[in-house]
Amino acid sequence: MTDYVRQDAIDETWRAVVDTARRTARDGLVVGTSGNVSARVGDLVLVTPSGVPYDRLTPDDTVAVDLDGRQVLGSLRPTSELPLHLAVYRETDARAVVHTHAAHATAVSTLVPELPPIHYMTAELGGPVRVADYALYGTEELARNLIRALDGRSAALLRNHGTVVHGATLDQAHARTAQLEWMCHVWLLASSVPGRTPSLLTPPQLAEASTQFQTYGQP
Ligand code: 13P
Ligand code: ZN
Repeated sequence: MTDYVRQDAIDETWRAVVDTARRTARDGLVVGTSGNVSARVGDLVLVTPSGVPYDRLTPDDTVAVDLDGRQVLGSLRPTSELPLHLAVYRETDARAVVHTHAAHATAVSTLVPELPPIHYMTAELGGPVRVADYALYGTEELARNLIRALDGRSAALLRNHGTVVHGATLDQAHARTAQLEWMCHVWLLASSVPGRTPSLLTPPQLAEASTQFQTYGQP
């Protein structure tokens, strides 16, 4: 059961989950009902339902599970990728998770074991983004492969599938997803020029970018 204040937090987070899911569609990071979004409120995880177009979701459709995956709120079935979302909350300090099938990122996932560090935004994601081994969507095996690939990173690619990114907020997880997709696009562009190989950043260059990020933006 949830008290009034908590219900308030749940309603607000559900709105943000739905907004973020719609934004992934609007930004072209997913097509149709691909991808899924979740956010943590206390010990609950609010998740998009499986196979429901995001523009059909209303404030009354809240789907919530506990950290063991037991459904606590809602009648719509949670995303098929629930194992993956729950694994991220168990293994990291994430408060939000965004999964997409962004085109350039998915293309990169079929070509390399990690996204080569083509841009300093790599540092913002914790280092070169790894590609998790392929496993069938919705499985515990895919969740395990993801957790291995995420070590020390806030993002990973799923081979022949898409992206998974986590953050302290839904906005952060969404923004990181957009950055990841943009970097994959840049790497594909640069590496498809015949006879040329893109230059990459070195570990010290990534480390100094990471330090610089600590004072980026407004104080
Ligand atoms: P759901 O509609 O079940 O969330 O699945 C979409 C998806 O991307 C599976 O990997
Ligand atoms: Zn997917």
